[in-house]
Amino acid sequence: MLYTIPDYYKEFACIAGECPDTCCAGWQIVIDEKTKQTYKKYPGDFGKRLKTSIDWRESVFKQNENRCAFLNEDNLCDLYLEGGEALFCKTCRRYPRHVEEYEDLREISLSLSCPEVARMLMERKGKVGFITVEKDAPAEEYEEFDYMLFTKLCDARDVMFSILQNRDYDMFLRMAMVLSLGHDLQRRVSDGQLFDIDGLLERYSAEGAVKRFEKKREDFKTSCQEKKKLFFRMSDMFSQLEVLKADFPAYVSERIKDICEATDASEDCDFVTEELSQEEQIWLEQLAVYFIYTYFCGAVYDEQPYAKVKFALLSVLMIRQLYRGDERSREGFCKSAAIEAAYRYSKEVEHSDNNLLRVEEIVRQRSVYSLRNFLRLLW
Ligand code: SF4
Repeated sequence: MLYTIPDYYKEFACIAGECPDTCCAGWQIVIDEKTKQTYKKYPGDFGKRLKTSIDWRESVFKQNENRCAFLNEDNLCDLYLEGGEALFCKTCRRYPRHVEEYEDLREISLSLSCPEVARMLMERKGKVGFITVEKDAPAEEYEEFDYMLFTKLCDARDVMFSILQNRDYDMFLRMAMVLSLGHDLQRRVSDGQLFDIDGLLERYSAEGAVKRFEKKREDFKTSCQEKKKLFFRMSDMFSQLEVLKADFPAYVSERIKDICEATDASEDCDFVTEELSQEEQIWLEQLAVYFIYTYFCGAVYDEQPYAKVKFALLSVLMIRQLYRGDERSREGFCKSAAIEAAYRYSKEVEHSDNNLLRVEEIVRQRSVYSLRNFLRLLW
């Protein structure tokens, strides 16, 4: 079995009581069957506490004011204090590790919903790379795994990484080009023309490709007010989602709605795409690479690579806007505001399968998320 991990994977260490959010609050933690049996038989006073603190029918830990019943006042886990990691259920043992399965390959990422991961990514200055190793483990069998499509998606993702990590160009241009590649790729996948994909990828990776792409910029010039309206319509995605944390809708509203509704007399206010500082460019690059790495190849199961690209880059734009709407961002790049925007978005959107599916569905179906509108917004 092959395993792929991002090159910062081994640097992660949970900061436990220092964590500004903790993974034990704000969502339901599902307990796997094997651990449930261990908890059922656990002796003594702690065993009694386990009996009353678990919803046995739903197989989840009960919550007190949205916090796991075992999360104590110091933001430490009483289960861990009682029995160490051995007493964790699978979810707690794994988090923030996230696994995507592809027949004989497992791709592991660290979830951005963890504030410590959000910090690592935000502070990472070098380009992220990925490491693949082989280990003994039984491979999953998938009856209809399309190996040919998977190989093409992996090749396309490599090209996307190299475009996103080409620091000779501004990040919005790189994102626009990756969206356009996702769009062209979708046509070939939908038409069953997988053999044409190599030629497409060669065109997008050829020398001077970004420069040639940049020439199209003029065709999509859009006024600041139009961009605000467009962005506001795109941010409607939040109203379509299941709410995981009760205060999230208000958090979004304060940071996005108010900005979009503010009228700005100057036509060149350049909403969304005002010049980015070097630090911010790198942050957005790491976010874009994170989302593309985690989700893009999942298109092997639904043949919707373009929706995966749109979801990834829409997420980057939304996180950035949540950050920009934070007062702390007014005086230059503010790391803590950037970290908070990233992990809050991720926790709400990535940690609900319903929400992930819903965002992909709306970016596929609604005309506001067309390539033209994305390019108008980015340029
Ligand atoms: S969210 Fe991350 S850093 Fe915070 S307690 Fe959980 S694993 Fe540790």
